[in-house]
Parts: sequence; structure tokens; C-alpha cells
Amino acid sequence: MSLWDSYGLGNFELRAGNFSEDSRGRWYLNVCVPRASTMADESHKPSIGSVLDRSVPSVGIDLGLKSFAAFSDDRPPIDAKGFYRDLQPALARAQRARQPKRCRAIQAKSVLDAGWSAFRTMLQYKCAHAGVWFAEVDEAFSTQTCSVCNSRAGPKGRKDLGIRGWQCPVCGAIHDRDVNAAHNILAAGHRRLAEGIRVP
Ligand SMILES: [Zn+2]
Repeated sequence: MSLWDSYGLGNFELRAGNFSEDSRGRWYLNVCVPRASTMADESHKPSIGSVLDRSVPSVGIDLGLKSFAAFSDDRPPIDAKGFYRDLQPALARAQRARQPKRCRAIQAKSVLDAGWSAFRTMLQYKCAHAGVWFAEVDEAFSTQTCSVCNSRAGPKGRKDLGIRGWQCPVCGAIHDRDVNAAHNILAAGHRRLAEGIRVP
């Protein structure tokens, strides 16, 4: 196969892509490329100080099993079911071909992991393009910790996975499990940015 490259794609590292055909039979190659330089975008980013003092809005995002993504502001979560729906044709094919292992793989959490990974990659590029600070932070204790008083009083591990809402026994705050985690993730992101000031 050969490609006529009118866009100088040879100068880019090609990432995930696919082919599509329109109604007139014309074929397209859709491919992701990293931006040639993200340095120029650095100048568009707001100052770290303006993020930390909240004069520029920021959002924490918790990636999870029930909600694909939950947010620290008041936007609604992204439901994980939408991602499963996309997998139905592949699942049906595997079932017809009597491939139980493949069926289990498609239904497993690994699929969500792949979705999260793609989501993170896209988000990173979008943020770089839009001049937005982006950081992945350690999610340890983000679910257990009360985002209001910081006590580790929340639901723990897999055993408490079914608990969606809880009240902090220390300060009395009422939390949605995933939104509380997103608040803690946002706080961790702010700490990361603050560290960036101290360590140039
Ligand atoms: Zn609390």
C-alpha cells in the first residue's frame, strides 16, 4: 500500500488511525499525529498562580467503573454504558464464533482500561492544543479521603465498591463517591502544579 502524502505526514510520528469510506466511495485515512511542537502552546497557558488561586477554572476527573468519568465541578458524569455499547458488535461476533475467552476479554475491565488510556491521550492533546495545564496524578486514597476535611473515612477498596454515596463521620459532609474522588484529584493536581513552581 502506498500513501500520497500532501500534508507532510512523513514529518510526524503517526499514532492510532483508521480508514473510512464516504457515500461516494472516496477513501480517507484518519490518523492522530502529535503536534509538531508543544512549546508554542506553553505561552498560551495561564500562569500557575492564576490556576492555584482559582481565578482560572480547573477540573478534577475521576475515571471509574460505574461512571466512566466523574468531574469535580457540576457537569454530569460520563456513563460507562456508552462505551460498552460500542463493543456490542465485537462481542456478538465473538459469541457467534464461540470464542468464550474473547467474549470474556471484551466484557472485562481491560476494555475500560483501554478506553481510559485513549481518553487520557486525547485529553492530553486537546489540553496542549488549547493551552490548558494537564497532569495525571496518583489516585491513591482519592476515594477514601473526605475532600472537605481530609480524613480517610470513606469507602475502602473493592469490598465497598457498591457504596455510591456516603457521609463523612468526622465533618458530616455528604459525598457522591466519584465526585468526592474528583475533588481530591483536583487538589492533587493543584499540589503538583505548586511543586512545579518550587522545582524549576
Ligand atoms: Zn469530612
